[in-house]
Amino acid sequence: MTLKRRDFLRSATLAGAAAALPSTLQGAIATARPSSASRAVVIASANGLKATSEAMQMIKNGSDALDAVIAGVNIVEDDPNDNSVGYGGLPNEEGDVELDSSVMHGPSGRGGAVASLRNIKNPSKVARLVMERTDHVLLVGDGALRFAKAHGFKEEDLLTEESRKIWLKWKENLSREDDWLPPHDIDAADVGETMPRWERTTGTINCNAVDLKGNVSGCTTTSGLAFKIPGRVGDSPILGAGLYVDNEVGAAGSTGRGEANLLSCSSVMIVEFMRQGRSPQDACLMACERIAGRTREKRLLDAKGRPRFNVNFYAINKAGDFGGAAIWSGARFAVNTGEPESRLVEMAHLYQRER
Ligand code: ASP
Repeated sequence: MTLKRRDFLRSATLAGAAAALPSTLQGAIATARPSSASRAVVIASANGLKATSEAMQMIKNGSDALDAVIAGVNIVEDDPNDNSVGYGGLPNEEGDVELDSSVMHGPSGRGGAVASLRNIKNPSKVARLVMERTDHVLLVGDGALRFAKAHGFKEEDLLTEESRKIWLKWKENLSREDDWLPPHDIDAADVGETMPRWERTTGTINCNAVDLKGNVSGCTTTSGLAFKIPGRVGDSPILGAGLYVDNEVGAAGSTGRGEANLLSCSSVMIVEFMRQGRSPQDACLMACERIAGRTREKRLLDAKGRPRFNVNFYAINKAGDFGGAAIWSGARFAVNTGEPESRLVEMAHLYQRER
């Protein structure tokens, strides 16, 4: 039974990959670099248009790739209107915002990360300090907060009014069995609609760059899965899963369902695929295939055996080539190869969404 199911999954995955071919080719055209151009490049998830422009501006002025990507993602962490990162991020199930972030610096081979960090809106800056000012790689929870405060970070309430209202709506519509009621007509016979499980918001920014010296760095920062169990940590702060950089090869990072990525450690896998000669886009597609192929829980699969969730991967190599792929079609990512304005490029995909 298990074997049959696995075979089915494998063929579903391959069929999906074949269906993705036209957009794979399109992506390949979109990501080919003019040979005369500098190899400097910055890519990010689709919420990173401003971040990639800022990072490229800094790189053009001579900045190291890590300084550039952190300055870029800080724009998104500070933005109250991005509900998936930093200030204004959607909170955990108790209404507390908990942030995860990681950084990796290619030239030094070092990395740092924080997870479940509360009250500090720039976890990427704290992750960098973990890398530079400790002999550790990952600090979590209260220890991460105390470390940030020791370095002068000020605590602040990260829950904006908008995010609090979204959380309250979620809580009040979660169950007809609890005591929380959404706004309703006092004469209503039935109060509250149950939100479908699969509409839980996710979102993150991953940003990777090659600088003018050809050095590679990356950063991932997020408020993680909305309404998570307090203490839940996703893929973003886990080096090898939500981010990986090898200065000899390139960088990769992710957004989307962290649990799926944690079980495959895809970013380090993508970097290894690139080391073996795969293009960034093909390496990202291979990681999507791996996740689809090893997802076996029925609750996570649709009727055709395909994941009911999405994971997106973004990758650059040392030569400045870039690419991205997602399990499901429709995703885009931000790219800047030296222009004043960044652009969005379509990602390759395993499966075409049915409309
Ligand atoms: N990957 C993030 C996490 O699982 C969320 C996301 O990117 O949507 O925490």
